Amino acid sequence: MNAEILTIGDELLIGQTVDTNSAWIGKNLASFGIQITRKTAISDSENEIISAINEAFERVDFLLITGGLGPTKDDITKKTLAKLYDCGFRRDKGITVHLEAIFARRGRQMLEINKQQADVPEICEVLANEEGTAPGMWFDQNGKVLVSMPGVPNEMMHIMENRVFPRIKNRFKTPEILHYTAVTVGVPESLLSKQLEDFEKTLPPHLNLAYLPALNTVKLRLSGRSDDAALLKAEMAGYFDNMCEVCGDAIFVREDISPVKHIARQLIQSNIKISLAESCTGGFIANQLVIEPGISKVFNGSIISYANEIKQHELGVPAEIFSTVGAVSKECAQYMCESALKKFNADIAVSTTGISGPGGATDEKPVGLIYIGIATARGSRVKKYHLFGTREQFMHRAANYAMMLVKDALLQEFDVH
Ligand code: AMP
Ligand code: MG
Repeated sequence: MNAEILTIGDELLIGQTVDTNSAWIGKNLASFGIQITRKTAISDSENEIISAINEAFERVDFLLITGGLGPTKDDITKKTLAKLYDCGFRRDKGITVHLEAIFARRGRQMLEINKQQADVPEICEVLANEEGTAPGMWFDQNGKVLVSMPGVPNEMMHIMENRVFPRIKNRFKTPEILHYTAVTVGVPESLLSKQLEDFEKTLPPHLNLAYLPALNTVKLRLSGRSDDAALLKAEMAGYFDNMCEVCGDAIFVREDISPVKHIARQLIQSNIKISLAESCTGGFIANQLVIEPGISKVFNGSIISYANEIKQHELGVPAEIFSTVGAVSKECAQYMCESALKKFNADIAVSTTGISGPGGATDEKPVGLIYIGIATARGSRVKKYHLFGTREQFMHRAANYAMMLVKDALLQEFDVH
């Protein structure tokens, strides 16, 4: 089944707020077999709202709206919906009780505009909003369903999860949609698609493969739809295995998670300790690792050795390294990871030293050059990469490549798959 999203708010059109609501809604409705075929962003204007709704209902039977439900004059969605459906307002008892409780808790007097948040168009069904003051609304008229929700992301999500999802199940008969995702690192999309050319030809019409490139990763998402969930699951598992086999080593993880998250989980599960010595990534890899709950078990710490003095005094990089090969060198990366391994008493240590730009480049050392070192009890090795993009993209790419080295070490030296 197809649906559309309408986001309402001047702030979305002048770049003050980025529309994250549609992304969340699209992602979450997919599992109900509902495909978003269009999303529209419009200003807080009656004409825009009415024409956008009418146009959407010429194409689909289900429209989800966010925004324009605040108590202030600039938010006009509720009033406009009453006009569109040609109905009056009623004051909802449930919402009134909820609002009174919120104001009592905050020790604040309710103004008339606050009380009016309990006024809803007569013909709608109220979608209670425990997270805020503006309720959601469900309109079901002439075979067309319209859901109106506040723009505030956590309130919208709360209403979707608790009120809209159960209603969707009752109201629409939707097929099952399943996604199987694998993440690759360091292989361009074009190369992957060449490798997967024959595999794609074997896919039946109800399965399809999408390539989602981001930085130096590509997500391979196999999607399928069917009325029989169990059958679909079994069928897709087989195709997913084939796909991963064709890609071989390019597959980093057979799940929709980041390379760092995958490695963090592997380290925790196998109780293998990691430490870092980061120069050009400035603690970025450490930061990405500590996002994973439970990482304290295997991550003792990291040295952000941005300055040469820190590389020298904290990590024992000899001074002549800086005067000969320089801080951005294989030798420096090697000293850094070996030292971090000992200093933190870790099983694996990773180091980074490079030129993230835009300044600091020389003829021999261009922007984007990075050396990533990895040390274990067996010894150390350093790999050289040329990355591109902004400083931030440089960090992400570097973190992904560093994880490739860790993955390799886990496999070769610790037998962790
Ligand atoms: P409203 O329901 O119009 O009062 O929305 C309140 C707030 O929600 C706005 O000030 C925005 O910061 C936020 N917001 C509105 N629409 C969106 C959207 N599509 N995505 C993310 N945030 C939003
Ligand atoms: Mg608004």
